[in-house]
Amino acid sequence: EFRVRYAPSPTGHLHIGGARTALFDYLIARKQGGKFIVRFEDTDQTRHVESGVDSQLNGLKWLGVDWDESVDIGGPYGPYRQTERLHLYQPFVDQLLESGHAYRCYCSEADLEKERAEQEAAGQMPMYSGRCRHLTTEQIQAFEAEGRKPSIRFRVPENRVIAFEDRIREHVEFESNGIGDFIIVRPDGIPTYNFAVILDDHLMKISLVIRGEEHLTNTPRQIMMYEALGLPVPEFAHLALILNPDRKKMSKRDESIIQFIEQYKELGYLPEAVMNFIALLGWSPKGEEEIFTKEELIEQFDLDRVSKSPAVFDMDKLNWMNNLYIKKADTARIAKLALPHLQKAGKLPETLSPEQEQWVHELVGLYQEQLRYAAEIVPLSELFFREDVSYDDEAKAMLAEEHAPIVLASFLKQVEAATEFTVDALKAMIKAVQTETGYKGKQLFMTIRVALTGQMHGPDLNMTLHLLGKETVAGRIKKLL
Ligand code: GLU
Repeated sequence: EFRVRYAPSPTGHLHIGGARTALFDYLIARKQGGKFIVRFEDTDQTRHVESGVDSQLNGLKWLGVDWDESVDIGGPYGPYRQTERLHLYQPFVDQLLESGHAYRCYCSEADLEKERAEQEAAGQMPMYSGRCRHLTTEQIQAFEAEGRKPSIRFRVPENRVIAFEDRIREHVEFESNGIGDFIIVRPDGIPTYNFAVILDDHLMKISLVIRGEEHLTNTPRQIMMYEALGLPVPEFAHLALILNPDRKKMSKRDESIIQFIEQYKELGYLPEAVMNFIALLGWSPKGEEEIFTKEELIEQFDLDRVSKSPAVFDMDKLNWMNNLYIKKADTARIAKLALPHLQKAGKLPETLSPEQEQWVHELVGLYQEQLRYAAEIVPLSELFFREDVSYDDEAKAMLAEEHAPIVLASFLKQVEAATEFTVDALKAMIKAVQTETGYKGKQLFMTIRVALTGQMHGPDLNMTLHLLGKETVAGRIKKLL
C-alpha cells in the first residue's frame, strides 16, 4: 500500500508552505490509490499551540483536502499525535543503546556551550565532540550521583557517505564526518524530532516522505538511524522553498503576501482557486493549461514535474486566478461570502429582509466580474452606501458641460414619473431621454453615470441605477441641478 503523510508541528495556523506539502501528499496519494495520513509532531512543547491541531485540520478541510487517518477519525496506526505515542518509542531506544548505536550523554548546557565556544575560537565548525562516547562506569555513576539526567545521543559512524535518490533533488549525499553525534532523546525522556519522525514513519508504514527542503540536512541523520535499527528507508521528496514576490525567502512576518489559509477563507477566496494556485507552487503541468479542478489535479499531478528551484509566490496571479473562479461561480455563493463583509463594515444590518437579500444578490452580481475576492465588495460598492456622491475634477468638468443639465433634467422627469424601477424600465427611461434631448452615447450615458456615481466607468449602468433605487437617484440628481 502506498502511504504518505503530512506531519505538521501544531504551532499555529496552516501556512501556505504546509498547505503545499499537504496538497502534494494528498494529490499523489489519491492519484496512486494510496492513503494520506495527517500526524502531529507535538513533542516540542515550548512551541505548542493548543488550537494548532484544529486549525491545521480545518485549514485542510476548507481547501478540500481530506485524509484517511488522523487524530479526528483515528486509523489503524494511531495514535496520530506524538505525545500520545511516547510508549511506542522506548523499545527502539533500548535497541540502539544495546547495539551501541546510541549512548547516554551527561553534558550540561554549560558544558556544551563551552565546547562550542572553544571550537568557534579555533575556527572550527561547532559540532558535538563525542566526549561522552566512552564514559567509564565510574564516570557514569558519578554523574548520576550528582543528579544529572542524561540525554541519549546517536553515535554517528565515521567516514561514511550517506547517499539517497531524492524524488525531486535526485542524487543527494552527505558525509557523516560533518555530522556530530546528535540527541535523540532529551533528558526529560521526550524524543527529538529526528528520532520520533523515523519511528512514526516506520510504524505508520510510510512509503514516501514529502517535506520542505529545510529538512534536507535532517535526512542523512534519519537514514543513519533507519540503518542502525535495521529498518527499511522510505523514499524522500524535498520541496524547494517558496519565495516572496521579491525573490527573498518568505518570512512569516512579511505582509506583502497572505500566508495563512485561514486568512484566505476570511477574505472570501474560493478554496478551489487557492488549491489550484498552491498546486502550481513548484509543480508545472504538461501543457499550457493552468486551471484545474481537484479531479484534474489528481489525474495530472506528478512529482517528476516538481521543480528543484524555488517557487515564487505571485499574489497578483492568485488574485487573477481567484477572480476567474469567482466569475464562473454561482452569484448566490459569492453573495453568501460577501454579505458578512458588508455587515462587518456597517453597510447592512445583521438580519436582512427578503428584499434586502435580493438586493445583495444583485449587487454582488453587478460586481462579480470584477471581484478578486469577496471582501472586495466593500470598497467596490462604496457608492451605494454613501450619503453624498463625491466628484473629482474630471467628474466636475464633465458635469459642467453644456449638455449635462439638459440630460439630467430630462432624466429626473423620467425618474419621478416612473412607476417601476427595474433594469428594463430604466433602459426605456434613458431611451426616452435620448429622444427628448437628442443626446446619445457618451454625452447621455456617461453624464448619467457620473452624476449618480461620481465615476467615469463602472459596471452595468441600468443595474447600478436600479440598485441605487428611485429615491436615491432622484435625490442625487436634484442635488446637482
Ligand atoms: N514537523 C515537521 C515540520 O513541521 C515535519 C517534517 C517532516 O515531514 O518530516 O516541519
